[in-house]
Amino acid sequence: MTTTTAMPTTMLGSVRLDEVSIRIGLPGSPRRWVHAAERVSLDLVPGRVTAVVGESGCGKSVLALALMGLLPAGTITAGSIHYGDVDLLTASERVLQGIRGGGLGLIPQSAATHLNPVRTVGSTMAEALAAHGRPTGADGVRALLDELALPAGTIDRYPHELSGGMAQRVLVAMTLALRPAVVVADEPTSALDPGTARLVLAALRNHADAGHAVMLITHDLVAAREVADTVAVMYAGRLMEIGPVDPVLVRPRHGYSRALLDALPENGMTPAPGLPSSLVDPDPSVCAWHTRVGVPCVPAGRVDDDHWLACVPAGWS
Ligand SMILES: [Zn+2]
Repeated sequence: MTTTTAMPTTMLGSVRLDEVSIRIGLPGSPRRWVHAAERVSLDLVPGRVTAVVGESGCGKSVLALALMGLLPAGTITAGSIHYGDVDLLTASERVLQGIRGGGLGLIPQSAATHLNPVRTVGSTMAEALAAHGRPTGADGVRALLDELALPAGTIDRYPHELSGGMAQRVLVAMTLALRPAVVVADEPTSALDPGTARLVLAALRNHADAGHAVMLITHDLVAAREVADTVAVMYAGRLMEIGPVDPVLVRPRHGYSRALLDALPENGMTPAPGLPSSLVDPDPSVCAWHTRVGVPCVPAGRVDDDHWLACVPAGWS
């Protein structure tokens, strides 16, 4: 039997990060720089959840800011992030404002600070929908609230009347209600209990299945394994391995991906050897991970159609 799925009314799109480098200046003299991203290339594709995983401070949240055009003033960037014909790294604020919401939606880490304290959830939601030309009070919004196990009365509540977990789910519902072509979710489950986290992950999966692109930024490998199609492993501002969930999070090829898996409770929480690498003024000519573990490495590249490795230990074939 052939079924026809109605395409969403929002524009469909993808995002291509091409050799993106991001350096954020620290105050003081001489000037020191945080190398938050170093030549990061990644495609966010409609219909797929792409998880960017790595420990806190590896630069993955800075990628979210870069996609939304929200990098701090004075940041130096190289490369490009194309959304259609627009380079999000160099676009004007006016152009970015036209893209945010309906084109690119952000689910930030701290939901509570992004809700207007003097407006009810329903009022804020209606305003956002109206601003993007969508019918307010649509059935779709109620369905999203249901999907996220938010009671119908949530719509009449003020942010201070919501628990942290409810506020997070409200923000997820608000972002997804605009049906953005690309959703960037930055640690969307970090403050949630496992049951609630599962609802948020399912909502993101459904959004991708409806033909949109989802970028899930998370330190939670279990979450990534549950909903992602593609996984990009990031260490010290660089991507180390990109590929399907299996092999990357089941039989990884890169030493850092293996170290992340070894740190899971199911694998005995074995800590990674050595000390975390600093992002401040690193030597860009060396690999931070293999320097950390004291193993020389050589650049690798594509090892399969959809599987890429930054490097392998020297001497490996
Ligand atoms: Zn290396």
